[in-house]
Amino acid sequence: MESALTARDRVGVQDFVLLENFTSEAAFIENLRRRFRENLIYTYIGPVLVSVNPYRDLQIYSRQHMERYRGVSFYEVPPHLFAVADTAYRALRTERRDQAVMISGESGAGKTEATKRLLQFYAETCPAPERGGAVRDRLLQSNPVLEAFGNAKTLRNDNSSRFGKYMDVQFDFKGAPVGGHILSYLLEKSRVVHQNHGERNFHIFYQLLEGGEEETLRRLGLERNPQSYLYLVKGQCAKVSSVNDKNDWKVVRKALTVIDFTEDEVEDLLSIVASVLHLGNIHFAADEESNAQVTTENQLKYLTRLLGVEGSTLREALTHRKIIAKGEELLSPLNLEQAAYARDALAKAVYSRTFTWLVAKINRSLASKDADSPSWRSTTVLGLLDIYGFEVFQNNSFEQFCINYCNEKLQQLFIELTLKSEQEEYEAEGIAWEPVQYFNNKIICDLVEEKFKGIISILDEECLRPGEATDLTFLEKLEDTVKHHPHFLTHKLADQRTRKSLGRGEFRLLHYAGEVTYNVTGFLDKNNDLLFRNLKEAMCSSENPIMSQCFDRSELSDKKRPETVATQFKMSLLQLVEILKSKEPAYVRCIKPNDAKQPGRFDEVLIRHQVKYLGLMENLRVRRAGFAYRRKYEAFLQRYKSLCPETWPIWAGRPQDGVAVLVRHLGYKPEEYKMGRTKIFIRFPKTLFATEDALEV
Ligand code: ATP
Ligand code: MG
Repeated sequence: MESALTARDRVGVQDFVLLENFTSEAAFIENLRRRFRENLIYTYIGPVLVSVNPYRDLQIYSRQHMERYRGVSFYEVPPHLFAVADTAYRALRTERRDQAVMISGESGAGKTEATKRLLQFYAETCPAPERGGAVRDRLLQSNPVLEAFGNAKTLRNDNSSRFGKYMDVQFDFKGAPVGGHILSYLLEKSRVVHQNHGERNFHIFYQLLEGGEEETLRRLGLERNPQSYLYLVKGQCAKVSSVNDKNDWKVVRKALTVIDFTEDEVEDLLSIVASVLHLGNIHFAADEESNAQVTTENQLKYLTRLLGVEGSTLREALTHRKIIAKGEELLSPLNLEQAAYARDALAKAVYSRTFTWLVAKINRSLASKDADSPSWRSTTVLGLLDIYGFEVFQNNSFEQFCINYCNEKLQQLFIELTLKSEQEEYEAEGIAWEPVQYFNNKIICDLVEEKFKGIISILDEECLRPGEATDLTFLEKLEDTVKHHPHFLTHKLADQRTRKSLGRGEFRLLHYAGEVTYNVTGFLDKNNDLLFRNLKEAMCSSENPIMSQCFDRSELSDKKRPETVATQFKMSLLQLVEILKSKEPAYVRCIKPNDAKQPGRFDEVLIRHQVKYLGLMENLRVRRAGFAYRRKYEAFLQRYKSLCPETWPIWAGRPQDGVAVLVRHLGYKPEEYKMGRTKIFIRFPKTLFATEDALEV
């Protein structure tokens, strides 16, 4: 038999706190490597789960695996996602506290897979609700639909989520799932009209073309071949070997029924999907005055039919811009470039609003049907956050700026909730603690979001000066306002040495995870996200019931400017942070082992980078400095008083003194625990386990 020592040499330690050299990044990565080689993809840092994407089916999510992790203590079984799932669920049941599992990591690291496994765990292991058992199916089936409309093949991931998702699952007092709610963040709608080489548009387009019945396609005026559609050929990659569009179509069709779509609604939804494809094939030619004219009558005909908008209205809207000056309406013709811009803007708006509608529709279907019953009122909530990780590309634009800002906020929350609160609690309890240095990234969050002088404020200000402001004036204003900030740099502000790597239209942020250079081209336009008025008017007249819910006439009369994209995003993030703060957090940190999407390949450079920007070393340092377990004296005494004749059945003195007597009786060694002001702190889980085990004897 293998000795414990050689086994550890081979498979590493299952909690990084057990690493001898816990401050060494090399030791950390070596431990990950050993475990990865043995297909042990999960490792803890205390309560935080680190997961490495195996890129192969390890058969570790079966019903037997679920059972193995139910009701057992976190540290008694090998690390697993299901241990996190079960721990959160039990805390929700016994302490009746809302939980939030935050899953982070870069694209392709396995966030969405983890979210799905968690949902499956709850769906299969939780008791069924007394009424409305269908909610379990709805919770599961909402996923393929959202993925069809919100996921796409990218260079990094064949099934990349192009939106952020936070999902609440509601449980009744018996612990049965009774409802759910989804919040979505910032769909990457530019993908509707353009894809980089080797990437695809959203899955739904290919699914419909591959899998749709002959009759459906005929009604929608579609051909099977994706090559026929300009919005689908930009990435030159309609087929993906790992994706089976035809099969997925069947899954999605079925799922739509489960989440309460009527046949009419499915038809309306597909009409919109098809109309986006037809829009992409709308061509223009210039007349003698260089004004754009629609030349693709057939496409226009289908659009008219599918969207239920008058042909003449649509034609005019695609080739003119309506301006209201001094109370008078003026129509000014568009040139070729402007008309193409208007067409693409319409396609993006139609698709992204449909996505928003879809989320709302799913939410109606997930809403607990028993809202008035007493059991509903006492629901507890478990949230699952699957949101885009930090992104650094060759060329970083507005989208990366928003995504990285989001990660900055979540990192701040992570710091706040784990590192800082840990330290503060020891201080409050009067327990000596060796201070651990950590980087507080509030300074970067402020740089982005502060009122009046943050980057978003300055961007919004420039968006209010149409005609005068450009992306470059935005950059200049930024330089003027935040020039002395230690985390901000532009070409003008840089010294000779760094200037070489920084272009004139760029600014650089020193994020907690590293430097990212952003190109300002398109910032104003993307932040404004304006749709010409007559396009809006045209869509408001749509007889497609989904479209008419997506475009509301009140938008036309509203004098107030809609919030900019960045500000909307900022507000939704602040709201998300509040939601997460109100819950007990659990963390899953996902790591992508290589860029080739292949099993068995452990790319050290890539992994080291992720360990750094997930803040794992820092997390470990703090965890190791601290204690594994803490509990209020009252609670601790209540639970274990039967183990000591002096505290059983009643301890008449102060609970703290009772605990002191109790642990002395149990033989705790001085280095194993500390007594704080209100709580006992236990350094190692094994001490606690021994005490727990004693209860059972
Ligand atoms: P994105 O940010 O692009 O949405 P992601 O973190 O959500 O990325 P996933 O889509 O979850 O990444 O994972 C990418 C792929 O990796 C999956 O399609 C699957 O093939 C594989 N994968 C991820 N996690 C696992 C796992 N636990 N077991 C087996 N394969 C996995
Ligand atoms: Mg994903």
